[in-house]
Amino acid sequence: MTASSQVKLKPGDTIGILGGGQLGRMLATAAARLGLRCQVYSPDPDSPAFDVVQHATCAEYADVEALELFANDVDVVTYEFENVPAATAMILGARRPVLPDYTVLETTQDRLAEKDFVTGLGIATARYADVSSAVGLRAAVATIGLPAVLKTRRFGYDGKGQAVIREGDDLDAVWADLETKSAILEGFVPFEREISVIAARGADGAVECFDVTENQHGDHILRVSYAPAAIPEAVAAEARAIATKIAAALNYVGVLAVEMFVVPGGDGPTLMVNEIAPRVHNSGHWTLDGASVSQFEQHIRAIAGWPLGKPVRHGNVTMTNLIGDEVNDYERWLTIPGATVHLYGKGAARPGRKMGHVTQVTPSASPKP
Ligand code: AMP
Repeated sequence: MTASSQVKLKPGDTIGILGGGQLGRMLATAAARLGLRCQVYSPDPDSPAFDVVQHATCAEYADVEALELFANDVDVVTYEFENVPAATAMILGARRPVLPDYTVLETTQDRLAEKDFVTGLGIATARYADVSSAVGLRAAVATIGLPAVLKTRRFGYDGKGQAVIREGDDLDAVWADLETKSAILEGFVPFEREISVIAARGADGAVECFDVTENQHGDHILRVSYAPAAIPEAVAAEARAIATKIAAALNYVGVLAVEMFVVPGGDGPTLMVNEIAPRVHNSGHWTLDGASVSQFEQHIRAIAGWPLGKPVRHGNVTMTNLIGDEVNDYERWLTIPGATVHLYGKGAARPGRKMGHVTQVTPSASPKP
């Protein structure tokens, strides 16, 4: 309905957040600091974001009546996860501005559409092919070569819905195990490191990127992020330019993350885009304590129609995720000088579940007077 450029919230207004995980919790906390209220919508009664807002809607995403009541209560709608059902966004979008726009999700919910979009902008990705059968997988392997990574087109996260294929693997078995009808095969990228750019774009087209983050994964889950990434400034500038180009091409309003591979080459490292996350992102959590404005605040500012901050990094920052029972170590982290502990208030510390994170900032030397 209302064009994004017309959204201009005032302190006291209410933002509706779809999704009740830790990202929603940290968005709502950032909004509160700016005098804005949030109402969280989630089907899960144990949503960690419910704990930090006064008003919450616990209902299924297909519950039309609940969605209509929710829309009535809020001034703008945003989301903290990318798999918002199309029908949900339609119902809400007919009543309130939804930012970023739903069309962004149509691109980023589907790995094939996303790769086509990115390569269409002249930005490099891994080589890829559409796969919808075991026969198609054999043809794709013949084109792309091995090793390669087979990924479901939709609903994959933290390595779920992925399989690395190596020489000699039984392709029929790999296809059957993925339990999907639509996938893409990507060439395996021999990257030297993984980085991400967290970018905020306002409705006026202004973009602010945080310093490039370097990310280390284990079992496909982000373990540790470092800011800044240990890459030459020219590569960092290129990474920011790629994220800016993507945000502009999507006519994006809010914060997005672009994950990239740094690939070694004879003429120096080059970049390939792996994935776009149309939301605040785990690799941007360091900004909570390591920068003058956090990714969560930037997102809130962007969707409120407020000026973006110009992020200043406070020093070299390390962000360590507390995954599964690692969270039980929180008392030790609390005693470490300079460590800032964030716990998400989740119940069961299941393996692989993100339970909290810790940021550690080594302050930059102050400029000499
Ligand atoms: P994704 O779900 O696409 O973000 O992939 C999760 C992780 O798997 C990435 O962060 C990489 O560590 C690894 N990965 C994904 N795609 C590739 C690829 N084409 N080549 C090498 N590693 C990959």
